[in-house]
Amino acid sequence: MHFGSLVAALASCLDVRSRGGEWLLRIDDLDRGREVAGAREAIIEDLTVLGFQWNGAVQSQHERGTRYRQAVNQLREAKLAFPCACTRKDIQEQGEPGERAAVYPGTCRNGLPPGKAARSIRLRVPDETIRLEDEWAGRICQDMAREVGDFVLWRVENIASYHLATVLDDADAGITRIVRGADLLDSTPRQILLQRLLGLPTPAYAHFPLVRAEDGRKLGKQTHAPRVDAGTPSKTLFKALEFLRQTPPAALSSAPIEDIWTWAITHWRPQALTTAAA
Ligand SMILES: [Zn+2]
Repeated sequence: MHFGSLVAALASCLDVRSRGGEWLLRIDDLDRGREVAGAREAIIEDLTVLGFQWNGAVQSQHERGTRYRQAVNQLREAKLAFPCACTRKDIQEQGEPGERAAVYPGTCRNGLPPGKAARSIRLRVPDETIRLEDEWAGRICQDMAREVGDFVLWRVENIASYHLATVLDDADAGITRIVRGADLLDSTPRQILLQRLLGLPTPAYAHFPLVRAEDGRKLGKQTHAPRVDAGTPSKTLFKALEFLRQTPPAALSSAPIEDIWTWAITHWRPQALTTAAA
């Protein structure tokens, strides 16, 4: 586990524990082909050494394909999803620029072009603006048709898309509150739309501002951040708390891990994060 993931896990765990809630651990492992051997075990080991405690068994996604497929079929039967033959290159060339990538130009919306085979399945995105009151990020509005377009539910690799899997996993686990980094903020309207179309409840969302490394880069997989040092767990956890602007007393950096957790849950101040970003 790298430092960016640790900080994200810590923020969500402290937020939930300080409210007396249950914290669930799910390893997002949809794309098994890209999974590094032993990565899952290493993450669980690091979390355990750092004193994280989760409710119930560790959840994963790779054995939930039937559930994901059933949801796609449900959307297809309701004419809310359609097969698409376009490649990424087709869309880049023909689509208008959108929030992150080119917006799907609608090529296969009313049927596959003659002689073309389906590669993926897309959601028929309605002409609608999705609004969200995020607890920390405030009001978010996204014009789905113009900013996002028909997005993928089932990928060419024959696996569910991240958005579809996430929405179903959250609902099936009874998740009522999602705390995560602001890098996922612009994905949230897509997930809310899917919840509505599938008749699932929408949880409360709280996105915390992105944590940046000392050189200003976002901490995450993209920066090839090194694995956190679980050999000195107290120091590592203390550093993560400081990163979340929680100002733990210096003496805690060498205290037993349980003492750091007790302090952190009692003193959790998410406001420190949001004011630092403002
Ligand atoms: Zn298409």
